Amino acid sequence: MNKLFSSIDTLNGVGIKREKFLRKLDVNTPYDLLYHIPRSYIDYSHTQPVFDIKIGENCCVRSKIIRKLSPNLTAKIEIYKALATDGEASFELTIFGHKYLFETLTDGEEYYAYGKLSQYYDKIQLIAAHIVPITAENLIQPVYPLTNGLTSNMLQTNVRESLNIAKNELSDYMPTEITEKYELCDLMTALQNVHFPVSYDGLEIARKRLAFDELLFLQLGMQFLKYNNGETTDFELKPVDMPNLFPFELTNAQKNAIAEITADLCRNIPMNRLLQGDVGSGKTAVAAYAAYFAVQGKCQIALMAPTTILATQHYNTFCDLLGKKAKICLLTALLSTKEKNAVKNQIKNGEFDIIIGTHALFQKSVEYQKLGLVIMDEQHRFGVAQRAALISKGNAPHRLVMSATPIPRTLGLVIYGDLDITIINELPKDRIPIETFAVTGKLRERAFGFIKKQLNLKHQAYVVCPAIEESEELNSVVEYCEMLSHGYFRNYRVSLLHGKLPAEQKDAVMTAFKNNEIDILVATTVVEVGVDVPNATIIMIENADRFGLSQLHQLRGRVGRGKDKSYCVLISDNPVEEVRDRLKIFSKLNDGFQIAEEDLKNRGPGDFFGKEQHGLPKLKIADIASDMELINATQTCAKEILEDDPKLEKHHALKVEVMRMTARLKS
Ligand code: ADP
Ligand code: MG
Repeated sequence: MNKLFSSIDTLNGVGIKREKFLRKLDVNTPYDLLYHIPRSYIDYSHTQPVFDIKIGENCCVRSKIIRKLSPNLTAKIEIYKALATDGEASFELTIFGHKYLFETLTDGEEYYAYGKLSQYYDKIQLIAAHIVPITAENLIQPVYPLTNGLTSNMLQTNVRESLNIAKNELSDYMPTEITEKYELCDLMTALQNVHFPVSYDGLEIARKRLAFDELLFLQLGMQFLKYNNGETTDFELKPVDMPNLFPFELTNAQKNAIAEITADLCRNIPMNRLLQGDVGSGKTAVAAYAAYFAVQGKCQIALMAPTTILATQHYNTFCDLLGKKAKICLLTALLSTKEKNAVKNQIKNGEFDIIIGTHALFQKSVEYQKLGLVIMDEQHRFGVAQRAALISKGNAPHRLVMSATPIPRTLGLVIYGDLDITIINELPKDRIPIETFAVTGKLRERAFGFIKKQLNLKHQAYVVCPAIEESEELNSVVEYCEMLSHGYFRNYRVSLLHGKLPAEQKDAVMTAFKNNEIDILVATTVVEVGVDVPNATIIMIENADRFGLSQLHQLRGRVGRGKDKSYCVLISDNPVEEVRDRLKIFSKLNDGFQIAEEDLKNRGPGDFFGKEQHGLPKLKIADIASDMELINATQTCAKEILEDDPKLEKHHALKVEVMRMTARLKS
């Protein structure tokens, strides 16, 4: 019988109590235990003489027990001690609380003790957290992710038991051509070694195999979702002549993007495309052409933006460009209920061709007559579920998602494996690179002077302060605005924009800024995404060290959007050298992709995305930041497999694993 996938309580050594703890760790079968991967390892094979260890250091000492001392049971935590020696120095081996561990020690025997060296008056103590006899088989011991009530030792016993079952029941799903080509060890060896490595080399080999598998399933799963869902769309559009919508000439990258998108729209399979381009590369123009094309094809287009400011901006742009050729509406929180209902009715009746809005677009009450194209701007701001909600409003509509968050290529391959990607790798040709300065608060006055110069040239400026709800030590944006408008910039028009303002007011301020009725916009990061005012040529960012580099790049992208030279001033009084270096590096880089790589190096993928969802399941073994090589290898491997066997009919065992992963992707 199949024991590996039966309930965890059937495993030897798992009683009712243990079962409860294991389930807390999401371990429900012996199989799950195999993939409960150690968090780290304790290495008993590298011992040090006590004389070489500094007080306070973690270390492993080969310790011979001279004599066990009588325990102190009156202390808050029971203290167990033994007199021990490493051959040269004698010391007290001290154990807090673990009576059981203490009882395993025998006078005269030798052990490896792992812990922290400390000093208590004139006595040297080794506060031991882990002790194993020197006869122990595995000198590199796993440390598991735990929950209260479990110890790594307990888990080890259970894992060993599962491994024993696996030896009989688990077969390797990976074809030998692949293990040979990519130099992978077999599955059983990998599992055995990831839990109980005999050496670090062995551990590395095991990790490589398991990470390879995980990344391969992920990529196969993504490709599967992309090609095998069998959807067809009702909107197989016909090619049309494209007029010149803009006063400027499109860049070649924009032209290519439009060509790729329109080709997609002429197929009966729904488009699923990511349009990625650095800030200011002109993605909106591409979206406008896509929308125009779809309007000619007689379908409705929904364009969703993450903020009202951005939705309104798009609405205005689209009205200017396409107002005569299409009926366009704006659906945001700005409308009254009555207005909303009227608009919703017209959407339902098919009276509007292009519907622009925020999250309002996918509410239950919104129905479309013939939604054929869904466009999402700044898509990383939307969760996977929100994307799906909007898409479900049509019958397999085409999808275009746009993002200025430059995902490093390798990461993009993983995250957007289910999307086709078009990259705009070119800025409009009249752009002059933005000049960036990273300075301390001492130079603030000078920066103000610099801003004044720009204002006197009839340009506009942004001053960005961190959000108002943050702690007091940060410059509160409200006070800051007061300070500027009554002080240095009293002869200029200074206005405030922050997230807590009512939507109408935000909109009014933004419109005024756009119409050049405001000289300086003091703002929180609400201006971060998408805002487009080409006449603004300088942005000053206070407490710049609080932002990630990619976010700084987004903020900086608010300027340099026209043909005039633009500037960015970063102010930070953070004295930490790495922080200063980070800002210095940033001030020399202008390419969003390079900056993203830098950011990823500094912060890792979790922080890189912050709270934003990217729909990727949590990986157990692989690390998308550091396993770049494996990502590339698995990408190739996935392609090879699917070319020959697109439905994985010849790779049944593999398919089972891939399905497991796709289930995680969808959940
Ligand atoms: P983003 O890619 O950041 O969304 P936008 O689409 O907002 O960029 O475009 C930034 C600015 O550049 C806008 O003012 C837009 O009108 C302008 N723009 C777009 N394409 C071109 C082009 N080919 N030549 C000159 N200006 C352009
Ligand atoms: Mg944009």
